[in-house]
Amino acid sequence: MKFGIHYGYWLHTWENADLKYYCRKAANLGFDLLELSGHAILSASEAELRELRELADGLGVGVNACHGLSRENSTSSADSAARARGIDELKRLYDRVELIGSRQLGGTLYSYWPSLDASNEKLDLRGEWDRSLESLAVAADEAAGRGITLMLEVVNRFEGYLFNTAKDALRYLDELGRSNVKLLLDVFHMNIEEDSLSDAIRLAGGRLGHLHIGECNRRVPGRGHMPWDDIAQGLRDIGYDAGVVMEPFVLSGGEVADSVKVWRDLNSPDEDVMDSELRFALDFVKKKFL
Ligand code: MN
Repeated sequence: MKFGIHYGYWLHTWENADLKYYCRKAANLGFDLLELSGHAILSASEAELRELRELADGLGVGVNACHGLSRENSTSSADSAARARGIDELKRLYDRVELIGSRQLGGTLYSYWPSLDASNEKLDLRGEWDRSLESLAVAADEAAGRGITLMLEVVNRFEGYLFNTAKDALRYLDELGRSNVKLLLDVFHMNIEEDSLSDAIRLAGGRLGHLHIGECNRRVPGRGHMPWDDIAQGLRDIGYDAGVVMEPFVLSGGEVADSVKVWRDLNSPDEDVMDSELRFALDFVKKKFL
């Protein structure tokens, strides 16, 4: 397994972060991976991304990205222009993924995120599903040509509506029929939707390509009541050997907090405290998972 940290842990905005600073920090804290938002790699210059890759290679840290499309660029939209913009945005992300030396792109690439406003409308779920599959077939084939695997993140009912469980997401993958598209499971979302976390992991099996971890309230692993032993058992049962990225979000205020609904500080915003929490969490997770 490769253990990672999402750069948004320390930040209030998705864009214009000093990516090299967080890459060095991830390496110093003992992580194998630094995960960035799609917005971070889209807004950075090509030169910045090349420098980031050079630094990351030197430090032995992998860099990868996870993205949520806006509603205006949703790949499941009834508006064909929106779907075309979404597919185009994914293609621009593939260019950036290549620049950071990665071979994968994760996220809610199949629709838009967060879809909190959907409950106010009469949703054509079947239409959304079919249009999403049509868009993703195009996006997946383009990705395959570049050796990129898409990791579709299964999110909870408050953040997405096309699928909320591993079972339904696997049905989507079956209908899509593209071998370079896998699942990204996130224990934060699974805790809301799945009957059993380890059963969901076992069901995904070899089609689980990437994993996000954190506590139910978004604190770092080990500070809450997530069933870590059960999760570890599921991962052992499928011989999981890919990325395990922490996505703690603990700081209130700003764009990052607003998108993940953090309305209070969940630990001290002091950077030394933030970092020591990560050292604790990485040690905790390795003891559980390895
Ligand atoms: Mn996640």
